[in-house]
Amino acid sequence: MNRISHWIDGKVVESTSGRSAPVFNPATGEQTGVVGLASVEEVDVAVASAAAAFPEWRATSLSKRAEVMFRMRELIDANRKEIAAILSAEHGKVFSDAMGEVARGLENIEYACGIPELLKGGYSEQAAGGVDVYSIRQPLGVVAGITPFNFPAMVPMWMFANALACGNTFVLKPSEKDPSVTLYVAELFAQAGLPAGCLNVVQGDKVAVDRLLEHHDVEAVSFVGSTPIAKYIYETGTRHGKRVQALGGAKNHMLVLPDADLDMAADAAVGAGYGSAGERCMAISVVLAADAIADELVGKIAERIPSVKVGPGNEPDSEMGPLITAEHRDRVRSYVDNAPGEGATIVVDGREGVAAEGFFLNPTLLDDVTLDMACYTDEIFGPVLSVVRVSGYEEGLQTINANPYANGTAIFTRDGGAAREFQFDVQVGMVGVNVPIPVPVSYYSFGGWKSSLFGDTHMYGPEGVNFYTQGKVVTSRWPDPSTSTIDLGFPETR
Ligand code: NAD
Repeated sequence: MNRISHWIDGKVVESTSGRSAPVFNPATGEQTGVVGLASVEEVDVAVASAAAAFPEWRATSLSKRAEVMFRMRELIDANRKEIAAILSAEHGKVFSDAMGEVARGLENIEYACGIPELLKGGYSEQAAGGVDVYSIRQPLGVVAGITPFNFPAMVPMWMFANALACGNTFVLKPSEKDPSVTLYVAELFAQAGLPAGCLNVVQGDKVAVDRLLEHHDVEAVSFVGSTPIAKYIYETGTRHGKRVQALGGAKNHMLVLPDADLDMAADAAVGAGYGSAGERCMAISVVLAADAIADELVGKIAERIPSVKVGPGNEPDSEMGPLITAEHRDRVRSYVDNAPGEGATIVVDGREGVAAEGFFLNPTLLDDVTLDMACYTDEIFGPVLSVVRVSGYEEGLQTINANPYANGTAIFTRDGGAAREFQFDVQVGMVGVNVPIPVPVSYYSFGGWKSSLFGDTHMYGPEGVNFYTQGKVVTSRWPDPSTSTIDLGFPETR
């Protein structure tokens, strides 16, 4: 049985807490590992290591920090397949999807390579007579990241790429469901020349999270996960005086207008609904179909579903893998079980023909879903796509804006004017126009609105650099001391 440990102070450290959790291969259902769950004392050791590493790392030149990121970029690039294989084995996502995750994570390392440019301050010469003013941004100190199971490589990279490049040191608490990949990445960072203590990984559960949230030496917390936990992290972290960004769950709607190319919309719905078994915070889970085209669109989605190849992530032709655990698969399946009783129609039933082994559920399509049904109100986080029929653009927009989640959304249309109006009026953080999964590139920032984000800073990109730094403004003058006088007035600039 593979024992999965912490990475503290530049080396693997076995957990001694006596607490552990099983790790599974979701494609077979077999337990493949056991992960140690940190005690409060183990978290304290990791934070102490990060605190000790901070003074030297923050004083390390920008070129040197960028050099570490460039080396890391090369190492991840060279090891894409190994990382993807670890992802696939513990998360279950298919290999091509895992390669995509690595590629999108890598973009954040690439962005951080530009840190000398990103941390340039402003300078105003002669702000007053003989007085210059300039702004600088400085790191916060020890910062923590708490990450979900669904992107175990990419989401940590959203956080620590910028955090480290800005001069902070980092303590990561990955998901206990698929923890191995973070150890691999931490080792690559060591090879890239990151000094010991700058990046620590503590494996754990609520005990570790709570300790990070209250620890005096942790200055900021980045979180990605479900909405109830995000809210808890935000409230607890801020109560302890920390800067917090906490990204939560989602219910992403795709509005299909009558003029849309329906084949393209159906392709997009299938890809964005069932990719990664629907376990993406940017997955499309609701298709808002304009009445005029709803029957045709549902037909086109339904006819595509049988061709989705469901299978183990390590088989080359698999397109959709299993869910993360048996419990989660059962929870997702319960929404399908309950849908007819609530009045929905099961058009394609993913409970049929499911593999005997592993945590699989096949793609499911529900029609005639209404806004009061649990399959609509809840984040299902599985391969279940719900179709809600709407009269047209206005009802579609109102439906999206009334939903408490506001992570991503998409409109499918050939009408540029309607798309422009949608972009202007929709109350969602990330918007796709004929793009079903509008995850921003790394030089923009990622984040939803409303219950999909607690805090006011989005993640990675320019907002990530802001989150992991604090501004300082210096006002400076070098007058001739012989001209010095006492002046009790408030300094003016004119
Ligand atoms: P989760 O909220 O269960 O867990 C996330 C992290 O919080 C894990 O590290 C976990 O150990 C920890 N945690 C869980 N329960 C806790 C508790 N009671 N107290 C303290 N810490 C706790 O989420 P998950 O199931 O791992 O991931 C799926 C969720 O993440 C979905 O809701 C999905 O939408 C969301 N997600 C959001 C984004 C985004 O960018 N908005 C991205 C990816 C995933």
